[in-house]
Amino acid sequence: MLIKNFIHGQYLDNHSAETFKVINPATNQVVYEVEVADTAIQKAAIESAQQGFEKWSAFSAVERSRILLKAVALLRERNDELAKIEVIDTGKPFQEAVAVDIVTGADSIEFFAGLAPSIQGNQQDVDGDFYYTRREPLGVCAGIGAWNYPLQIACWKSAPALACGNSMIFKPSEETPLGANKLAEIYIEAGVPAGVFNVVHGDGKVGSWLSHHPDVAKVSFTGEVGTGKKVMAAAATTLKDVTMELGGKSPLIVFEDADIEQAVSAAMLGNFYTQGEICTNGTRVFVHSSIHHKFIEQLKERTEKNIIMGDPMNEETNFGALISKKHHDLVMGYIKKGLDQGATLLTGGKAASPQSAPHGNFVEPTVFINCTDDMDIVKEEIFGPVMSVLTFEDEEEVIQRANSTGFGLAAGVFTLNIQRAHRVIHQMQAGICWINAYGASPAQMPVGGYKQSGIGRENGMETLNHYTQVKSIYVGMNPLESPF
Ligand code: NAD
Repeated sequence: MLIKNFIHGQYLDNHSAETFKVINPATNQVVYEVEVADTAIQKAAIESAQQGFEKWSAFSAVERSRILLKAVALLRERNDELAKIEVIDTGKPFQEAVAVDIVTGADSIEFFAGLAPSIQGNQQDVDGDFYYTRREPLGVCAGIGAWNYPLQIACWKSAPALACGNSMIFKPSEETPLGANKLAEIYIEAGVPAGVFNVVHGDGKVGSWLSHHPDVAKVSFTGEVGTGKKVMAAAATTLKDVTMELGGKSPLIVFEDADIEQAVSAAMLGNFYTQGEICTNGTRVFVHSSIHHKFIEQLKERTEKNIIMGDPMNEETNFGALISKKHHDLVMGYIKKGLDQGATLLTGGKAASPQSAPHGNFVEPTVFINCTDDMDIVKEEIFGPVMSVLTFEDEEEVIQRANSTGFGLAAGVFTLNIQRAHRVIHQMQAGICWINAYGASPAQMPVGGYKQSGIGRENGMETLNHYTQVKSIYVGMNPLESPF
């Protein structure tokens, strides 16, 4: 199968004939090839997005909203087939993709479609004159996605962009390119004009072209901190607006009065869901020393008993394959470093080869105990199923240790003391926080990072501001005063 770039409402052949291969992480077999967006495609993508912007931004917000809601209905109708695409591309369990990936993408489009007609400016009288403001779209926006939630990321970026009247050129990760094409087809089918959502394929070179392009007004990027810095530097060459959704090494703090069963559930969700490939994962689990023994006992038992690793398409599988052999080896390298630096394995730690998918990139769900703050496994984002459990004695100490990182994406606190819950969470240097919960991210809730984990927000009303610009219009009602 050959996948093409989606430009101006249709699939367009490239001229260079350059392609790349996409590999199923659970089998390590090539599933399809994809045409790279060469210079001819790139030029067409920009011209088309400019035309798309002109047309779409002239639609009334109510018209845009109605069309986007049709796309939501189509996404929901095709939930299962789209979920299968995500499983083949990412290696994540079907039971997750079918319940979460498409649903949360559709939720975001639905949320922003609902908000579109409410985008408004304001008016103020000033000494007999007045001014008013308009919230206008930015123009052609670029979206660049990571591979862990390919279709969801494409939805989370295009939903606010399109609701506000912009067009978008989206580049999915070269490891998971198909979902974005399916979204583009759905937008066209729903009535979004050609050129409003184009999809270009390729690696960092195509991403870099988009980030530098003078006719792109904004880049919304999801990926690693290091890549985010490059994208931001590129965007600076033409002073583009940027949204950066980057990596993390988030703390999950479990106080002595926590419901231990719930806290263990959170630690497992926040480390093993999507086989650990989630940016907000609570990979530094700080457990109060007085409950440490009980906590790790339950954690070990439940991890060994309840995780079903195997062919991600099997409905009972709840733990899939890592995105690539390269990433698998990187994760295994961190496990080795953990052992070398003196952490103790509570469970897992090995590469795996389950019977139902013997050639996939599997790593056992891994928990390290006896960790210290200076270990690489505790400091660096692994983006795999590797949890580090640390102990602490008091609140002040754990707050300081939880914050002593350059990342600031997420944080969680488990305690039944409500004052402490809020007091501690208010001191977390993180953009996405949970109290007695972990990982939930409804479309209404703005998400994004503090410190090096990001700039700007996705989802929530907040994001309307990131896809519009304010025009102020001063109206003179009095004779103009002038010294000339
Ligand atoms: P990555 O940074 O390697 O790649 C992300 C995207 O950037 C890909 O589409 C890639 O082709 C593109 N790219 C690479 N070099 C580029 C360049 N120079 N210019 C422009 N684009 C370029 O990230 P990844 O490995 O795909 O994803 C994993 C990372 O993403 C993790 O760090 C994870 O924490 C992060 N992530 C963050 C969020 C969030 O919302 N904060 C969500 C998902 C993933």
